[in-house]
Amino acid sequence: MSVTVRIPAKVNVQLAVGAARADGFHDLANVFLAVGLYDEVTVTPADELRVTCAGPGSGQVPLDRTNLAARAAELLAARHGRTADVHLHIAKDIPVAGGMAGGSADAAGALVACDALWGTEASRDELLDICAELGSDVPFSLVGGAALGTGRGEKLEVFEVGGTFHWVFAVADGGLSTPAVYREFDRLTPKAPAPQASRALLDALRKGDVGALAGAVTNDLQPAALSLFPSLAGTLAAGAEAGALAALVSGSGPTTAFLAADAGSARRIADALTASGTCRTARVADSPAPGATVL
Ligand code: ATP
Repeated sequence: MSVTVRIPAKVNVQLAVGAARADGFHDLANVFLAVGLYDEVTVTPADELRVTCAGPGSGQVPLDRTNLAARAAELLAARHGRTADVHLHIAKDIPVAGGMAGGSADAAGALVACDALWGTEASRDELLDICAELGSDVPFSLVGGAALGTGRGEKLEVFEVGGTFHWVFAVADGGLSTPAVYREFDRLTPKAPAPQASRALLDALRKGDVGALAGAVTNDLQPAALSLFPSLAGTLAAGAEAGALAALVSGSGPTTAFLAADAGSARRIADALTASGTCRTARVADSPAPGATVL
């Protein structure tokens, strides 16, 4: 018997970052949108915990106990007085170290899959608790859709989106470390103001208004990502030239995100980005996408 769970990637349509706090974390106003690029996590009973991974970039995914999916399985097992004796297989399609929360997705997927396999019947709140313990993006990977994260990301408020948005994601050659991007942010922005969610952006999402959304997207980490990965400027320019309504770095990067007017425009932007030679590959995906789903 095995259980497979599908989990979406995310893009941050607003990422407002405050100054580093005494505890090293940053206060955020973080508007997440789940997008239709998915990893799948399959769990099968085994003699001991084992992780395998296949797909683009899978060579960079750790297969030991530091894998976030393995940690998720162990946390759930420990809470329920059992051992995490499963084979976790990750079918990767979310760019690795790309600022699209791939590791967080796998953690949420492993949690839901193990809960179903073991019949633990953990409540939604318990699962969300474990997610928050694993990392600040993990709760959103579980719930999907759209949500506003505040505090250091631990407070999550889900809301409805009024339509479908069409995106193109340009996958860069190489990755960026999220902590390194925050360090660069601190260096570039010593007096960051308190982060505030944008009312215009939230209204645009609720109404499904792509033009208004394009005018409202922001990412405070973008200058830091560009500073560490200067060639991303060329990718952003190529997407804008191909007709994207908005172009921004996704989360801590180096994946870049392009908002398109419709599905046809998204395909044309993806083709232009691929032809431009400014990225490794370009992927089309719609949002919002559902959270962790048992297949
Ligand atoms: P985020 O957007 O949440 O900051 P990211 O999308 O930039 O994250 P991930 O793909 O989650 O980055 O990977 C970041 C690092 O985490 C990887 O380089 C890898 O060493 C480690 N990692 C641990 N578990 C996983 C996993 N299941 N999948 C991918 N990376 C993992």
